[in-house]
This record gives sequence, structure tokens and C-alpha cells, in this order.
Amino acid sequence: MGPVKSPDELTELFRARGLRVTAQRQCIFRLLEGNEAHPTAEWVYQRAHAEMPTMSLKTVYETLRELASIGEIQMLDLGTGSARFDPNVGRHQHLVCERCGRTRDINIDVSGLESLAPQTDDFTIANVEVVFRGQCAECSSTEHEMERN
Ligand SMILES: [Zn+2]
Ligand SMILES: [Zn+2]
Repeated sequence: MGPVKSPDELTELFRARGLRVTAQRQCIFRLLEGNEAHPTAEWVYQRAHAEMPTMSLKTVYETLRELASIGEIQMLDLGTGSARFDPNVGRHQHLVCERCGRTRDINIDVSGLESLAPQTDDFTIANVEVVFRGQCAECSSTEHEMERN
């Protein structure tokens, strides 16, 4: 379990930093809490708008950007077409389905990989990210069904 903050903790943190706290923003905090789906901004907007018709896409983008800027969510480019947002800000890696974009967390130690990079004077490695690409169980089973038919 990564260091994921509760909606109340995020509310306190936003207030302490002088960031705006509104019912709309708190709704977004709730949708992100414990969310392991690595949602896109559009997904967050659809769910939030269903709960609060006053929600705008702009509010969603602003809130996600502010959460990312204070380090409470990670913005990820996993090559699935849209930025993905991850409330798990602990160090971890990802499994990404190439067909549907489903993304799962995996906890493996990749710290040793830095030593595989060529040594150069003009580049300092800060971080290593590993993405495993393939197919999720659901996509492989639909593919097999199509083969059978
Ligand atoms: Zn899939
Ligand atoms: Zn993740």
C-alpha cells in the first residue's frame, strides 16, 4: 500500500497551502482515494459529473494538476494515448495492457537497473521506470473466443 491520503487529509493539505477547497474538488479527492485504475482526466470527469452536475472538465484538470504539483498524485504517460493519474505516489512499476490500456501496479525493485546504463559525464540518472506491456486476462480471453468462432 502506497502513501495515499484520504479526502480529509487532502482537504487539510490544500487549506494549509492556500489552495482552493470546494465541494467539487472534494468530490475529485474521493474518486481518487484508493483508486488503482490509473484513471484518465476524462474518466474522473465522467464520474464526478455524474455525482455533481456542476462539475466542469476545467475543474477536474485544475485539481489534478494541483494534486500533482504538491506530489499527492503522479501523472503518468504510459503510452495509452492520455495521461493517467495515480494516487499511489510510492515507488512502483506498471503492467499495461496494450489492447485496453488497463494498468496495474507491481512492486518490484528496479534500483539495480541504473547500473546497466552506459556511464556518461553529461547525464545523471534520477529515476528508473519499468513498464511491462502485454494483454490483460480479459483481452486475451476475448481474443481466444474470436479465434474459436
Ligand atoms: Zn486489456
Ligand atoms: Zn501505479
